[in-house]
Amino acid sequence: MRQINCEIIAVGTELLLGQIANTNAKWLSEQLAVYGINTFYHTVVGDNLFRVEEVFRQAQQRSDVIIVSGGLGPTDDDLTREAFQQLTNFELVEDKESMDKIEDFFVKQNLEMTPNNRRQARVFANAEVLQNRVGMAPGMRVIFDDKIWFFLPGVPREMKQLALDGVFPYLVSQLDAQVTIQSMVLKFIGIGESELEHKLQDLIRGQNNPTIAPLAQKEGVVIRLTAKEQTADQARALLEDTKEKILEKVGQYFYGLDNQTLEERLYLKLKSQNKRLAAAESLTGGMFTEKLVSIIGASDVCLGGIVCYDTSVKRNVLKIPAEIIDNQGVVSEECALAMAKNVSEILNSDIGISFTGVAGPTTIDGHPVGTVYISIYQKDGKQLTEKFVFQGDRFAVRRRSMLKGYELLLNFLNS
Ligand code: ATP
Repeated sequence: MRQINCEIIAVGTELLLGQIANTNAKWLSEQLAVYGINTFYHTVVGDNLFRVEEVFRQAQQRSDVIIVSGGLGPTDDDLTREAFQQLTNFELVEDKESMDKIEDFFVKQNLEMTPNNRRQARVFANAEVLQNRVGMAPGMRVIFDDKIWFFLPGVPREMKQLALDGVFPYLVSQLDAQVTIQSMVLKFIGIGESELEHKLQDLIRGQNNPTIAPLAQKEGVVIRLTAKEQTADQARALLEDTKEKILEKVGQYFYGLDNQTLEERLYLKLKSQNKRLAAAESLTGGMFTEKLVSIIGASDVCLGGIVCYDTSVKRNVLKIPAEIIDNQGVVSEECALAMAKNVSEILNSDIGISFTGVAGPTTIDGHPVGTVYISIYQKDGKQLTEKFVFQGDRFAVRRRSMLKGYELLLNFLNS
Protein backbone atom coordinates (compact mmCIF):
# COMPACT_ATOMS: atom_id res chain seq x y z
CA MET A 1 0.00 0.00 0.00
CA ARG A 2 1.57 3.27 -1.05
CA GLN A 3 1.71 6.44 0.99
CA ILE A 4 -0.06 9.56 -0.20
CA ASN A 5 0.73 12.98 1.20
CA CYS A 6 -2.05 15.45 0.86
CA GLU A 7 -2.31 19.24 1.02
CA ILE A 8 -5.55 21.15 1.46
CA ILE A 9 -5.80 24.63 -0.01
CA ALA A 10 -8.75 26.85 0.89
CA VAL A 11 -9.22 29.86 -1.38
CA GLY A 12 -11.13 32.87 -0.05
CA THR A 13 -10.39 36.29 1.40
CA GLU A 14 -13.23 35.81 3.92
CA LEU A 15 -11.12 33.07 5.51
CA LEU A 16 -8.08 35.32 5.83
CA LEU A 17 -10.15 38.11 7.34
CA GLY A 18 -11.43 35.72 9.97
CA GLN A 19 -15.02 36.17 8.82
CA ILE A 20 -15.42 32.42 8.48
CA ALA A 21 -13.48 29.50 9.92
CA ASN A 22 -11.79 27.03 7.62
CA THR A 23 -14.13 24.20 8.49
CA ASN A 24 -13.65 22.66 5.05
CA ALA A 25 -10.00 21.87 5.80
CA LYS A 26 -10.92 20.49 9.23
CA TRP A 27 -13.55 18.18 7.79
CA LEU A 28 -11.41 17.05 4.86
CA SER A 29 -8.47 16.25 7.15
CA GLU A 30 -10.64 14.25 9.52
CA GLN A 31 -12.02 12.22 6.66
CA LEU A 32 -8.63 11.69 5.01
CA ALA A 33 -7.20 10.42 8.30
CA VAL A 34 -9.84 7.71 8.36
CA TYR A 35 -8.52 6.42 5.05
CA GLY A 36 -4.94 6.53 6.27
CA ILE A 37 -4.00 9.51 4.10
CA ASN A 38 -1.60 12.03 5.65
CA THR A 39 -2.42 15.70 5.46
CA PHE A 40 0.84 17.63 5.69
CA TYR A 41 -0.29 21.17 4.92
CA HIS A 42 -3.35 23.37 5.29
CA THR A 43 -2.95 26.50 3.24
CA VAL A 44 -5.33 29.46 3.13
CA VAL A 45 -5.00 32.07 0.41
CA GLY A 46 -7.13 35.10 -0.51
CA ASP A 47 -8.84 35.78 -3.82
CA ASN A 48 -5.72 37.07 -5.56
CA LEU A 49 -4.62 35.52 -8.83
CA PHE A 50 -0.89 35.91 -8.27
CA ARG A 51 -0.91 34.53 -4.74
CA VAL A 52 -3.24 31.63 -5.54
CA GLU A 53 -0.91 30.63 -8.38
CA GLU A 54 2.10 30.84 -6.03
CA VAL A 55 0.40 28.61 -3.50
CA PHE A 56 -0.53 26.14 -6.24
CA ARG A 57 3.08 26.08 -7.50
CA GLN A 58 4.38 25.31 -4.02
CA ALA A 59 1.81 22.56 -3.49
CA GLN A 60 2.70 20.96 -6.82
CA GLN A 61 6.29 20.66 -5.59
CA ARG A 62 5.67 19.30 -2.14
CA SER A 63 2.45 17.22 -2.14
CA ASP A 64 1.08 14.17 -3.99
CA VAL A 65 -2.57 15.10 -3.76
CA ILE A 66 -3.87 18.64 -3.55
CA ILE A 67 -7.48 19.35 -2.62
CA VAL A 68 -8.58 22.91 -3.35
CA SER A 69 -11.86 24.32 -2.04
CA GLY A 70 -13.48 27.59 -3.07
CA GLY A 71 -13.19 30.13 -5.84
CA LEU A 72 -15.18 28.21 -8.45
CA GLY A 73 -18.22 30.50 -8.45
CA PRO A 74 -19.47 32.99 -11.06
CA THR A 75 -17.90 36.26 -9.93
CA ASP A 76 -14.63 37.90 -10.94
CA ASP A 77 -12.99 37.15 -7.62
CA ASP A 78 -13.51 33.40 -8.15
CA LEU A 79 -10.04 32.79 -9.55
CA THR A 80 -9.16 29.20 -8.79
CA ARG A 81 -9.42 27.99 -12.39
CA GLU A 82 -7.47 30.93 -13.77
CA ALA A 83 -4.66 30.46 -11.26
CA PHE A 84 -4.32 26.77 -12.09
CA GLN A 85 -4.40 27.62 -15.77
CA GLN A 86 -1.53 30.08 -15.30
CA LEU A 87 0.49 27.29 -13.72
CA THR A 88 -0.36 24.53 -16.17
CA ASN A 89 -1.54 26.14 -19.42
CA PHE A 90 -4.39 23.61 -19.37
CA GLU A 91 -7.30 24.49 -21.62
CA LEU A 92 -10.68 25.40 -20.12
CA VAL A 93 -13.88 24.24 -21.81
CA GLU A 94 -17.56 24.48 -20.96
CA ASP A 95 -19.06 21.35 -19.39
CA LYS A 96 -22.39 20.77 -21.08
CA GLU A 97 -24.07 18.90 -18.23
CA SER A 98 -23.21 21.65 -15.74
CA MET A 99 -24.24 24.41 -18.15
CA ASP A 100 -27.60 22.73 -18.79
CA LYS A 101 -28.15 22.56 -15.04
CA ILE A 102 -27.27 26.22 -14.53
CA GLU A 103 -29.58 27.32 -17.37
CA ASP A 104 -32.34 25.11 -16.04
CA PHE A 105 -31.99 26.70 -12.60
CA PHE A 106 -32.47 30.19 -14.00
CA VAL A 107 -35.46 29.14 -16.12
CA LYS A 108 -37.09 27.47 -13.10
CA GLN A 109 -36.49 30.50 -10.89
CA ASN A 110 -37.75 32.72 -13.70
CA LEU A 111 -34.57 34.76 -13.49
CA GLU A 112 -32.43 36.10 -16.26
CA MET A 113 -29.03 34.42 -16.30
CA THR A 114 -26.21 36.93 -16.33
CA PRO A 115 -23.34 35.93 -18.67
CA ASN A 116 -20.87 35.47 -15.80
CA ASN A 117 -22.81 32.38 -14.72
CA ARG A 118 -21.28 30.55 -17.68
CA ARG A 119 -17.96 30.84 -15.83
CA GLN A 120 -19.11 28.29 -13.31
CA ALA A 121 -19.50 25.56 -15.91
CA ARG A 122 -15.90 25.80 -17.14
CA VAL A 123 -13.73 22.76 -16.53
CA PHE A 124 -10.27 21.77 -17.67
CA ALA A 125 -10.42 19.82 -20.93
CA ASN A 126 -8.36 17.00 -19.40
CA ALA A 127 -10.30 16.91 -16.11
CA GLU A 128 -12.56 14.24 -14.76
CA VAL A 129 -15.68 16.29 -13.97
CA LEU A 130 -17.25 15.70 -10.55
CA GLN A 131 -20.91 16.60 -10.93
CA ASN A 132 -22.28 18.86 -8.21
CA ARG A 133 -25.61 17.37 -7.11
CA VAL A 134 -26.37 20.09 -4.57
CA GLY A 135 -25.16 23.28 -6.25
CA MET A 136 -24.03 24.78 -9.53
CA ALA A 137 -20.26 24.69 -9.98
CA PRO A 138 -18.90 21.24 -10.83
CA GLY A 139 -15.79 19.86 -9.16
CA MET A 140 -12.83 18.43 -11.03
CA ARG A 141 -10.06 15.91 -10.77
CA VAL A 142 -6.98 16.81 -12.81
CA ILE A 143 -3.58 15.17 -13.07
CA PHE A 144 -0.63 17.53 -13.55
CA ASP A 145 2.83 15.96 -13.77
CA ASP A 146 1.79 12.94 -11.70
CA LYS A 147 0.23 15.05 -8.98
CA ILE A 148 -3.49 14.63 -8.38
CA TRP A 149 -5.49 17.84 -8.04
CA PHE A 150 -9.09 18.07 -6.86
CA PHE A 151 -11.09 21.28 -7.21
CA LEU A 152 -14.18 21.53 -5.04
CA PRO A 153 -16.70 24.35 -4.40
CA GLY A 154 -16.30 26.35 -1.21
CA VAL A 155 -19.84 25.90 0.09
CA PRO A 156 -19.42 23.18 2.76
CA ARG A 157 -22.52 21.22 1.78
CA GLU A 158 -21.37 21.02 -1.84
CA MET A 159 -17.75 20.37 -0.93
CA LYS A 160 -18.69 17.43 1.30
CA GLN A 161 -20.94 15.87 -1.29
CA LEU A 162 -18.28 16.02 -3.97
CA ALA A 163 -15.54 14.79 -1.66
CA LEU A 164 -17.62 11.80 -0.60
CA ASP A 165 -18.64 11.02 -4.17
CA GLY A 166 -15.49 11.75 -6.07
CA VAL A 167 -12.43 12.28 -3.88
CA PHE A 168 -12.18 9.62 -1.17
CA PRO A 169 -13.26 6.61 -3.26
CA TYR A 170 -10.73 7.59 -5.91
CA LEU A 171 -7.89 8.08 -3.44
CA VAL A 172 -8.63 4.80 -1.70
CA SER A 173 -8.56 3.00 -5.04
CA GLN A 174 -5.14 4.55 -5.68
CA LEU A 175 -3.89 3.46 -2.29
CA ASP A 176 -4.94 -0.12 -2.38
CA ALA A 177 -6.46 -1.99 -5.29
CA GLN A 178 -7.72 -4.70 -2.91
CA VAL A 179 -10.21 -2.39 -1.28
CA THR A 180 -13.86 -1.87 -2.20
CA ILE A 181 -15.77 1.20 -1.12
CA GLN A 182 -19.53 1.09 -0.68
CA SER A 183 -21.84 3.86 0.45
CA MET A 184 -25.33 4.11 1.80
CA VAL A 185 -27.40 7.23 2.39
CA LEU A 186 -29.93 7.33 5.24
CA LYS A 187 -32.48 10.13 5.00
CA PHE A 188 -34.12 11.91 7.92
CA ILE A 189 -36.78 14.56 8.36
CA GLY A 190 -37.83 16.46 11.48
CA ILE A 191 -34.36 16.62 13.04
CA GLY A 192 -31.52 19.10 12.41
CA GLU A 193 -27.95 18.20 11.50
CA SER A 194 -26.49 19.14 14.87
CA GLU A 195 -29.15 17.30 16.88
CA LEU A 196 -28.67 14.20 14.77
CA GLU A 197 -24.92 14.42 15.25
CA HIS A 198 -25.42 14.86 18.99
CA LYS A 199 -27.67 11.83 19.29
CA LEU A 200 -25.21 9.70 17.36
CA GLN A 201 -22.02 11.08 18.87
CA ASP A 202 -20.97 7.80 20.52
CA LEU A 203 -21.36 5.94 17.26
CA ILE A 204 -19.64 8.63 15.22
CA ARG A 205 -16.69 8.86 17.61
CA GLY A 206 -16.31 5.16 18.18
CA GLN A 207 -16.32 4.08 14.59
CA ASN A 208 -14.27 4.79 11.51
CA ASN A 209 -15.35 1.96 9.24
CA PRO A 210 -17.86 2.76 7.98
CA THR A 211 -17.45 6.50 8.32
CA ILE A 212 -20.62 8.26 9.43
CA ALA A 213 -21.07 11.72 7.92
CA PRO A 214 -24.23 13.75 8.62
CA LEU A 215 -24.93 16.29 5.87
CA ALA A 216 -27.65 18.95 5.80
CA GLN A 217 -29.65 18.83 2.57
CA LYS A 218 -32.46 20.83 1.06
CA GLU A 219 -34.97 18.30 2.36
CA GLY A 220 -33.88 17.31 5.83
CA VAL A 221 -30.61 15.72 6.79
CA VAL A 222 -28.84 12.69 5.40
CA ILE A 223 -26.22 10.44 6.88
CA ARG A 224 -23.73 9.13 4.42
CA LEU A 225 -22.13 5.82 5.47
CA THR A 226 -19.00 4.75 3.64
CA ALA A 227 -17.52 1.32 4.26
CA LYS A 228 -14.12 0.07 3.16
CA GLU A 229 -13.73 -3.71 2.87
CA GLN A 230 -12.12 -6.34 0.68
CA THR A 231 -15.35 -7.42 -0.98
CA ALA A 232 -18.58 -5.64 -1.81
CA ASP A 233 -20.54 -8.16 0.28
CA GLN A 234 -18.46 -7.49 3.37
CA ALA A 235 -18.83 -3.74 2.88
CA ARG A 236 -22.58 -4.11 2.43
CA ALA A 237 -22.89 -6.18 5.63
CA LEU A 238 -20.99 -3.53 7.55
CA LEU A 239 -23.28 -0.82 6.21
CA GLU A 240 -26.40 -2.78 7.13
CA ASP A 241 -25.11 -3.37 10.64
CA THR A 242 -24.32 0.32 11.20
CA LYS A 243 -27.64 1.34 9.70
CA GLU A 244 -29.42 -0.78 12.31
CA LYS A 245 -27.40 0.82 15.13
CA ILE A 246 -28.25 4.28 13.86
CA LEU A 247 -31.94 3.50 13.48
CA GLU A 248 -32.08 2.19 17.06
CA LYS A 249 -31.24 5.74 18.16
CA VAL A 250 -32.95 7.98 15.61
CA GLY A 251 -35.26 5.64 13.70
CA GLN A 252 -38.30 7.82 14.34
CA TYR A 253 -36.90 10.49 11.99
CA PHE A 254 -35.84 8.10 9.24
CA TYR A 255 -37.80 8.11 6.01
CA GLY A 256 -35.74 6.52 3.29
CA LEU A 257 -32.56 5.18 1.78
CA ASP A 258 -30.35 6.45 -1.03
CA ASN A 259 -32.53 7.98 -3.75
CA GLN A 260 -35.88 7.60 -2.01
CA THR A 261 -37.75 10.91 -1.80
CA LEU A 262 -40.26 12.21 0.72
CA GLU A 263 -43.05 12.18 -1.83
CA GLU A 264 -42.31 8.58 -2.78
CA ARG A 265 -42.40 7.61 0.86
CA LEU A 266 -45.75 9.31 1.38
CA TYR A 267 -47.13 7.81 -1.81
CA LEU A 268 -46.15 4.29 -0.71
CA LYS A 269 -47.54 4.82 2.78
CA LEU A 270 -50.90 6.09 1.55
CA LYS A 271 -51.12 3.35 -1.03
CA SER A 272 -50.35 0.60 1.48
CA GLN A 273 -53.14 1.94 3.70
CA ASN A 274 -55.45 2.42 0.74
CA LYS A 275 -56.07 6.06 1.61
CA ARG A 276 -56.59 9.04 -0.64
CA LEU A 277 -55.64 12.57 0.17
CA ALA A 278 -56.83 16.11 -0.54
CA ALA A 279 -55.05 19.32 0.39
CA ALA A 280 -56.20 22.85 1.19
CA GLU A 281 -53.23 25.08 0.57
CA SER A 282 -53.11 28.74 1.46
CA LEU A 283 -49.54 29.98 1.88
CA THR A 284 -48.03 26.92 0.14
CA GLY A 285 -50.10 27.71 -2.95
CA GLY A 286 -50.09 24.12 -4.22
CA MET A 287 -46.47 23.20 -3.42
CA PHE A 288 -47.49 20.22 -1.30
CA THR A 289 -49.76 18.74 -3.95
CA GLU A 290 -47.34 19.51 -6.77
CA LYS A 291 -44.64 17.46 -5.09
CA LEU A 292 -46.90 14.46 -4.58
CA VAL A 293 -48.26 14.64 -8.12
CA SER A 294 -44.70 14.39 -9.45
CA ILE A 295 -44.88 10.66 -8.63
CA ILE A 296 -46.11 8.46 -11.45
CA GLY A 297 -49.38 6.92 -10.33
CA ALA A 298 -50.11 9.72 -7.83
CA SER A 299 -53.81 9.54 -8.69
CA ASP A 300 -53.95 6.32 -6.62
CA VAL A 301 -53.43 8.37 -3.49
CA CYS A 302 -54.06 12.02 -4.34
CA LEU A 303 -57.45 13.39 -5.30
CA GLY A 304 -56.28 16.96 -5.65
CA GLY A 305 -56.33 20.18 -3.73
CA ILE A 306 -57.75 23.63 -3.36
CA VAL A 307 -55.41 26.59 -3.45
CA CYS A 308 -57.28 28.87 -1.08
CA TYR A 309 -54.91 31.80 -0.91
CA ASP A 310 -57.43 34.59 -0.58
CA THR A 311 -59.93 34.65 2.27
CA SER A 312 -62.81 34.71 -0.23
CA VAL A 313 -61.73 31.26 -1.49
CA LYS A 314 -61.55 29.94 2.06
CA ARG A 315 -65.04 31.29 2.60
CA ASN A 316 -66.74 30.53 -0.72
CA VAL A 317 -65.02 27.40 -1.98
CA LEU A 318 -63.84 25.74 1.22
CA LYS A 319 -66.93 26.86 3.16
CA ILE A 320 -65.00 27.97 6.23
CA PRO A 321 -67.64 29.40 8.60
CA ALA A 322 -67.74 33.18 8.91
CA GLU A 323 -67.48 32.90 12.74
CA ILE A 324 -64.05 31.31 12.44
CA ILE A 325 -62.80 33.81 9.87
CA ASP A 326 -64.18 36.79 11.83
CA ASN A 327 -63.35 35.64 15.35
CA GLN A 328 -60.23 33.46 15.20
CA GLY A 329 -58.93 34.69 11.82
CA VAL A 330 -57.56 32.80 8.85
CA VAL A 331 -54.26 32.14 10.62
CA SER A 332 -55.60 30.05 13.48
CA GLU A 333 -55.91 26.50 14.71
CA GLU A 334 -59.66 26.56 14.13
CA CYS A 335 -59.33 27.74 10.55
CA ALA A 336 -56.60 25.17 9.75
CA LEU A 337 -58.72 22.33 11.10
CA ALA A 338 -61.83 23.49 9.26
CA MET A 339 -59.77 23.72 6.06
CA ALA A 340 -58.49 20.14 6.42
CA LYS A 341 -61.92 18.79 7.31
CA ASN A 342 -63.78 20.66 4.60
CA VAL A 343 -61.35 19.86 1.82
CA SER A 344 -61.62 16.17 2.62
CA GLU A 345 -65.42 16.40 2.60
CA ILE A 346 -65.66 18.50 -0.56
CA LEU A 347 -63.22 16.30 -2.49
CA ASN A 348 -64.41 13.11 -0.78
CA SER A 349 -61.00 11.94 0.41
CA ASP A 350 -59.98 9.79 3.38
CA ILE A 351 -57.60 12.45 4.66
CA GLY A 352 -57.40 16.22 4.33
CA ILE A 353 -54.32 18.31 5.03
CA SER A 354 -54.24 22.09 5.26
CA PHE A 355 -51.69 24.90 5.39
CA THR A 356 -52.45 28.42 6.57
CA GLY A 357 -50.00 31.01 7.80
CA VAL A 358 -47.93 34.11 7.26
CA ALA A 359 -45.34 33.72 4.50
CA GLY A 360 -44.27 37.35 4.82
CA PRO A 361 -42.91 39.88 4.42
CA THR A 362 -45.98 41.54 6.02
CA THR A 363 -47.69 40.21 9.13
CA ILE A 364 -51.35 39.10 9.24
CA ASP A 365 -53.70 39.89 12.16
CA GLY A 366 -50.66 40.60 14.35
CA HIS A 367 -49.12 37.14 13.79
CA PRO A 368 -45.39 37.34 13.11
CA VAL A 369 -44.01 36.27 9.74
CA GLY A 370 -43.41 32.51 9.72
CA THR A 371 -46.44 31.63 11.88
CA VAL A 372 -48.01 28.59 10.25
CA TYR A 373 -50.76 26.15 11.18
CA ILE A 374 -50.89 22.72 9.60
CA SER A 375 -53.83 20.46 10.18
CA ILE A 376 -54.60 16.87 9.22
CA TYR A 377 -58.09 15.43 9.37
CA GLN A 378 -59.06 11.81 8.75
CA LYS A 379 -62.66 10.93 8.03
CA ASP A 380 -62.89 8.63 11.10
CA GLY A 381 -62.34 11.79 13.17
CA LYS A 382 -58.64 11.32 13.95
CA GLN A 383 -57.06 14.75 13.67
CA LEU A 384 -54.04 16.84 14.45
CA THR A 385 -53.29 20.55 14.26
CA GLU A 386 -49.91 22.08 14.98
CA LYS A 387 -48.54 25.58 15.08
CA PHE A 388 -45.04 26.49 13.92
CA VAL A 389 -42.98 29.64 13.64
CA PHE A 390 -40.55 29.12 10.76
CA GLN A 391 -37.50 31.27 10.14
CA GLY A 392 -36.42 32.65 6.79
CA ASP A 393 -37.77 34.62 3.86
CA ARG A 394 -41.07 34.08 2.11
CA PHE A 395 -39.79 31.19 0.01
CA ALA A 396 -38.16 29.46 2.98
CA VAL A 397 -41.32 29.75 5.11
CA ARG A 398 -43.47 28.31 2.34
CA ARG A 399 -41.01 25.51 1.65
CA ARG A 400 -40.55 24.62 5.31
CA SER A 401 -44.32 24.49 5.73
CA MET A 402 -44.63 22.11 2.81
CA LEU A 403 -41.85 19.84 4.12
CA LYS A 404 -43.34 19.90 7.62
CA GLY A 405 -46.62 18.77 6.06
CA TYR A 406 -44.87 15.71 4.65
CA GLU A 407 -43.27 14.97 7.99
CA LEU A 408 -46.50 15.35 9.99
CA LEU A 409 -48.49 13.29 7.57
CA LEU A 410 -45.95 10.45 7.52
CA ASN A 411 -45.99 10.39 11.34
CA PHE A 412 -49.78 10.59 11.38
CA LEU A 413 -50.00 7.56 9.10
CA ASN A 414 -47.48 5.68 11.23
CA SER A 415 -49.27 6.29 14.51
P1 ATP B 1 -19.92 28.50 -5.40
O1 ATP B 1 -19.49 27.94 -6.69
O2 ATP B 1 -21.00 27.68 -4.80
O3 ATP B 1 -20.20 29.99 -5.41
P2 ATP B 1 -17.23 28.81 -4.63
O4 ATP B 1 -16.42 27.65 -5.06
O5 ATP B 1 -17.11 30.06 -5.42
O6 ATP B 1 -18.70 28.32 -4.43
P3 ATP B 1 -16.58 30.50 -2.46
O7 ATP B 1 -17.31 31.60 -3.16
O8 ATP B 1 -15.15 30.58 -2.27
O9 ATP B 1 -16.88 29.11 -3.17
O10 ATP B 1 -17.27 30.21 -1.07
C1 ATP B 1 -18.67 30.15 -0.96
C2 ATP B 1 -19.05 30.12 0.52
O11 ATP B 1 -18.63 28.87 1.06
C3 ATP B 1 -18.32 31.16 1.38
O12 ATP B 1 -19.00 32.35 1.44
C4 ATP B 1 -18.29 30.48 2.72
O13 ATP B 1 -19.50 30.69 3.39
C5 ATP B 1 -18.15 29.01 2.39
N1 ATP B 1 -16.75 28.59 2.43
C6 ATP B 1 -15.82 28.79 1.48
N2 ATP B 1 -14.64 28.25 1.82
C7 ATP B 1 -14.82 27.70 3.04
C8 ATP B 1 -13.96 27.00 3.94
N3 ATP B 1 -12.70 26.73 3.64
N4 ATP B 1 -14.49 26.56 5.11
C9 ATP B 1 -15.79 26.81 5.40
N5 ATP B 1 -16.64 27.47 4.61
C10 ATP B 1 -16.17 27.92 3.44
